[in-house]
Order: sequence, then C-alpha cells, then structure tokens
Amino acid sequence: MPELPEVEIVSRGLDEAFVGHRLTGVIRRFGQLRWPIPENLQSAILGPGPAAGAGILRSVQRRSKYLLLAFDTGTLLIHLGMSGTLRRLPAGTATRAHDHVDFVFGEQVLRFNDPRRFGAVLWCAGSAGAVGSHALLRRLGVEPFSDAFTGRLMYEATRRRKVSIKQALLSGAIVVGVGNIYASESLFRAGIRPTIAAGRISRPRYDRLVVAVRETLAEAIAAGGSSLRDFVASTGESGYFQLQCFVYGREGRPCRVCGTTVRAIRQQQRATFYCATCQR
Ligand SMILES: [Zn+2]
Repeated sequence: MPELPEVEIVSRGLDEAFVGHRLTGVIRRFGQLRWPIPENLQSAILGPGPAAGAGILRSVQRRSKYLLLAFDTGTLLIHLGMSGTLRRLPAGTATRAHDHVDFVFGEQVLRFNDPRRFGAVLWCAGSAGAVGSHALLRRLGVEPFSDAFTGRLMYEATRRRKVSIKQALLSGAIVVGVGNIYASESLFRAGIRPTIAAGRISRPRYDRLVVAVRETLAEAIAAGGSSLRDFVASTGESGYFQLQCFVYGREGRPCRVCGTTVRAIRQQQRATFYCATCQR
C-alpha cells in the first residue's frame, strides 16, 4: 500500500512532469473505483468555453495521501488506495488490465491503474469552495512536515487519552501519514514504548517524537527519490522503499543500538516491533 513517502514522491514526479502542461482529454475506461469516477471529468476540467488557461495544470500538492491537481476550474483529487499507480507514458500506449483512466496532456499521458480499486479519482469544482473543505480532507490531522506538528500539539491532543501512543499516531486524527512501519520506527527513535497510553507521555518526550517522525519520513522520501523515472509512481508493493529499519520486521534479532532481542506484538491487528531496553 502506498504510504506518505511514496505519495510525496509521486506528487513531486507529477509536479516535474506535468505542471504547466495543458490537459487535452480524459479517457475514462472503467468508472468504478472506491467511488465512481465522474463521467463529465473532461468537460469539468476544461470548462465551458474557450479560455486561455483551460486545461493547464497549475500545481500539484499532497495532503495526507491525497494528490491534489489544481486547474483553473477546480481540483482533481487522486488517492492511490491499496494498489494504485500513476504512470507517465507516450500518448497512444496500449492499455493493460486495470488501466482505469488516462489524463492526456498532448503527447504524453498520465495513466491511473488500480487492480484492487480502492483508489479514488474525484473532482472538486472551484465553485464548491476551497479544496481543503472537501469532506475527505477537512477532518485530517496536521501534516508531519508542517509547523503545526509540534510536541505541544501531540501533548495537548492526548491529555486524558488512554489509547496507546502507537494507535494515536496511526489514527491520523492528530498527524497524518505515520503508517505502521513509520510508527514503530519513530517510537524507537524517540525511545517511547508503543504500548504506553498517549495521555501519560510528557511534553519533552513528545518533542523528541515529533523530531523522530520527521526524520523517519524524510529518510524514506530520500530513499524513494531514485525510484522515479518514467513511472511517476513505483509499483504499490515497493511501499516502504529501502528504509533501514531499527525494529520493524526484526523480531528476534538484536537491537541495532543495545543488542536486546527485538520483540513483536499485535496492537489493533497490526504488528508492532520494539526494543524493551531502548523504549520505556
Ligand atoms: Zn535497544
């Protein structure tokens, strides 16, 4: 499943390849993803009449794991779901199974493929207001690289919360993009036991956790940069790039820092890995 670092890489790839280019058509093959792909997508993007900026992709941004492609008429929301990929191809390239939609930009095509169909391609018309107020976006937690993500925020949002810190990170309600591997790795770096109630963690420890989350995600993004070529996204499976894990997936092996055997437990049906010596 594509995680935040992978979506960030896709976002940068789209920015490089397509921003400033003019969309000339949309080819919709199979409309049913998590929600139906709008049938009128091409006319929605291009607008009602001839306009100088019609179809020009103005910017690409990422919000959580949503890609936001801004045109003068509104914003295209794309989510890769469990198995979605976006590829940049020469126009006219033969399709394969699960190629759901093409965004044609003259000589090149942005093609969305999704075998499991949990992805989404949606349109948010500019007339409907700021894209951030869209139902899918408005309740998301803060971005991990934004100034809003602070130890103080984590501390204040978790007072009297009995939920474990691992769950608090994974929920996305406070901060987005800390998937299962990144939660285990960030908590290791911050020296925090994943099972501790979020409400019992001190402010200084949350300050360290914020730094650890940013470092972990930044390393994954840096590792993923090399996977970007003709494929705007790598295959969904590659997921976590080549992150050098301290604890994730290392059950029974010695901690890289202290040598204690790394433990694995289940929290809410998800695997958690930690070192009982380094993490308290
Ligand atoms: Zn250790």
